[in-house]
Amino acid sequence: MRPVYKIGSRKITIIGAGFVGSSISYALALRDIAREIVMIDINQEKTEGEALDIRHGLPSMGTSDIYVGDYSDCVNSDLIIITAGRNRRNGESRLDLASDNVDILHSVIKSIQKYYTHGVILVISNPVDILTYKADEWMGLPNGMVFGSGCILDTSRFVRTVADYIGLSTGVVNGYLVGEHGDSQVPVWSRLTVGGIPIDEYCSDVGILWNQSVRNEIAERTQKMGADIIHAKGKTHYGIATCVCHLADAIVNQRPTIASVSSTLMGEHGVRNVALSVPSVVGPSGVQQRIREKWDSDEYRGFFDAVEKVRENLKIVSS
Ligand code: NAD
Repeated sequence: MRPVYKIGSRKITIIGAGFVGSSISYALALRDIAREIVMIDINQEKTEGEALDIRHGLPSMGTSDIYVGDYSDCVNSDLIIITAGRNRRNGESRLDLASDNVDILHSVIKSIQKYYTHGVILVISNPVDILTYKADEWMGLPNGMVFGSGCILDTSRFVRTVADYIGLSTGVVNGYLVGEHGDSQVPVWSRLTVGGIPIDEYCSDVGILWNQSVRNEIAERTQKMGADIIHAKGKTHYGIATCVCHLADAIVNQRPTIASVSSTLMGEHGVRNVALSVPSVVGPSGVQQRIREKWDSDEYRGFFDAVEKVRENLKIVSS
């Protein structure tokens, strides 16, 4: 018999138990972030297999209770993570997925609405900025309660690439990308620091080359990384799973953090009615604040180009 949990019991429901949903469930369990993890998918049998596989490794690792549920399990969830949808095929852009995944999202949101009690909704399925905006519009919750992983994975790849280039661990590199989770992502070079020191100052002091061509190469590598992984193995799922752990911990364990995630902008940088990533305070009520720090003119230009692109795509999928 299943124990009865109360609100605040660190309950996370994951909708879509494919590669991404199952990897998230596994990563959450290993890190012991949730007390209760519910997995929902239209493919019930496969999901039973995934949940059992993860459950069986837990006695020596964590305390989460992981099981397969249905939409009625959205009741009392502190966090609902949406990964349902099909994956990007080799050579396909994230936008090519849009209309199929918008339809899937719509049916998922209608089912969530029947049982939603409280809690944050985190969108992972692609194209994440478009789906985040649509999910936010359909749910009608206070701004920030629905948000998307956005540029958190791109940022993680960026930090990794910079750390590898300068030969230090990722923990001392602080930087982020903004805009679209996709081809028009924008590295914010003007805010990139190493151990709190602006990176150009650090590189000049220790004798590491830091110029436009190095930056272009890092930006290009970061931007192509998702497509390269898909080309090599057909999908990406581990990277996003660990990024989601960071966000889930901030939400269900009340450890607010700052991350570049996607949410519907409400006039920040003069932009509204579109969801894109900017550095945001993420905590128990989702995106609690978007930070309006200053960038340089190229960075603003890149960000506004991304705004226009995502807006155009939103029009296409909404028509
Ligand atoms: P997948 O095909 O392995 O899994 C998708 C799952 O969704 C399947 O198990 C399928 O049965 C399920 N599903 C489909 N329709 C459903 C519905 N109506 N209700 C419930 N479940 C449903 O794909 P994946 O590799 O897990 O990727 C999932 C999504 O995550 C894709 O859109 C992918 O592009 C995206 N993704 C996003 C990021 C990011 O950084 N935001 C990173 C990687 C993947």
